[in-house]
Amino acid sequence: MNGKITVFGAGNVGGAVTRRLIERKLCKKVVLVDRTPGKAEGIALDILEASPVDLLEPVCVSGEDLEESRNSEIVVITAGATRKEGMTRDDLLRINADIVRECVSKAAKFSPYAFYIIVSNPLNVMCHVAMRAGQLPRTRVTGMAGILDASRFQYFLSKELCVSVENVQAMVMGEHGEDMVPIPRYSTVAGIPVTELMSREKLDELIARTRDGGAEIIRLMHTSAFYAPASAVIQMVAAVTMDKKKILPCAAYLTGEYGIDGAFVGVPVKLGANGVEEIKEIELTGEEHEALLKSAGKIKTQLALIGESC
Ligand code: NAD
Repeated sequence: MNGKITVFGAGNVGGAVTRRLIERKLCKKVVLVDRTPGKAEGIALDILEASPVDLLEPVCVSGEDLEESRNSEIVVITAGATRKEGMTRDDLLRINADIVRECVSKAAKFSPYAFYIIVSNPLNVMCHVAMRAGQLPRTRVTGMAGILDASRFQYFLSKELCVSVENVQAMVMGEHGEDMVPIPRYSTVAGIPVTELMSREKLDELIARTRDGGAEIIRLMHTSAFYAPASAVIQMVAAVTMDKKKILPCAAYLTGEYGIDGAFVGVPVKLGANGVEEIKEIELTGEEHEALLKSAGKIKTQLALIGESC
């Protein structure tokens, strides 16, 4: 293990991920790459200049020369355009497909055995684009979304019930977007299903807010979220680098699981040193399964729009 992680995109998410990787000491070296001249260099220098105060000794380098990133163990793709107010994730589809294709094709030449974590939106489609562009096995590419969506749901539940966030677990599956599928039956407070703790109306209200979570942030600060997304990425990196074998909701490529074939869909997966080590198939009600199939259908429609076969 050389402890090297490459982050594509030195924007809000990429910068926050880089900073957290160093704070958490999750790697020996972070290579930050951005196409805007000076941007990755600036972020890297800013982080390095904090090292005498923080007493951290980061090795953070940047630049277009991917030689620095050779044999990275993990590659995080945050490069892309973001949603502006009133824009859906679908609007980003074509722009970001080209960007992700370019980044992963380059990265895979230097780090063919890395584990790839995709963040760029629309998330589920970008995972597909990445897997194809890098010719990666499905065990080594996954998307960050479910952890973020579940974390938002957990936060809203904890506020509503006035309990510690530490007590709350939540499960969100499906697409990262309007068709995400929160599963209240598998969402608990100290082991008690939330369905037993609040009315259906209140639960629906919190689910609606979770679905709208990304847009709510954009309405407030006119750009997309980055602290919570970075935390979610860090949880995935930690699961892999520490071989935690942790069950987390992530976008994984399904080949028949849940009756879905040929798309990256948010499902509970086991993350460890070998990447996506297992896709957990939990029991769903007819209604939940319908919602998951609808979500997968939307992802496949988006794939068709950019000419990606399933
Ligand atoms: P940002 O605009 O702050 O940063 C994006 C960076 O990517 C910019 O610095 C840009 O120069 C760079 N970039 C663009 N094309 C590039 C290329 N070809 N090579 C290298 N760098 C390139 O955006 P952000 O807020 O950091 O968000 C990044 C992406 O992550 C967006 O697509 C956003 O929608 C997505 N996002 C996803 C989630 C999620 O839950 N999956 C959450 C938040 C943001």
